[in-house]
Amino acid sequence: MSGKHILLFGPPGAGKGTQASKLVTLLQVPHISTGDMFRENIKNETELGVLAKSYSSQGKLVPDEVTIAMVKDRLSRSDVKTGFLLDGFPRSVPQAEALHAILEEIGLPIDHVVNISVSDDDIRSRLAKRAGIEGRADDADPKVIQNRLDTYKSQSEPCLDFYRPKGIVRDVDGIGSIDEVFDRIKLVLNY
Ligand code: AMP
Repeated sequence: MSGKHILLFGPPGAGKGTQASKLVTLLQVPHISTGDMFRENIKNETELGVLAKSYSSQGKLVPDEVTIAMVKDRLSRSDVKTGFLLDGFPRSVPQAEALHAILEEIGLPIDHVVNISVSDDDIRSRLAKRAGIEGRADDADPKVIQNRLDTYKSQSEPCLDFYRPKGIVRDVDGIGSIDEVFDRIKLVLNY
């Protein structure tokens, strides 16, 4: 494969987290999940956690400046030089633009944007199922689920238009077993 600086993209419930865990084990790169970082802060009741919760509990994005600063700080660590898996970031065009500037400054590329696609109906049933298993508050309420889908469509999906002209988007069908989807990801990464 050409490089290990990878973004994992897709709607909520596409299976990003599950695939990310498998991928970082295979590639031996740091897993940078903004959702996990916010959840950790929420659990520890930090100032950032209190702020993040006020947005995530409604299915909204945490404001760009807060999220971008958190990611910029993480990317300043030297372990990202040989690769990273960014999971759940960027999720808005300003975040994509900011990431571009940050990576340019530290001299790192984005080699692949893995875009996992799943239909709206499948997402709804998956999120409802996950709520029962993981007990995530933002998966339980249908109104919050709808907000997260709307947010994805209006704010996150346009990021793909930012990356498509660069020729780095690798589309992957997210329907199937965990291993089937993982095999497809390995295929598009030539791994
Ligand atoms: P996730 O686990 O990736 O679905 O993230 C859970 C929640 O954290 C999201 O619904 C958002 O409220 C927040 N979040 C995660 N990543 C971002 C991001 N890149 N920008 C803004 N908010 C985010």
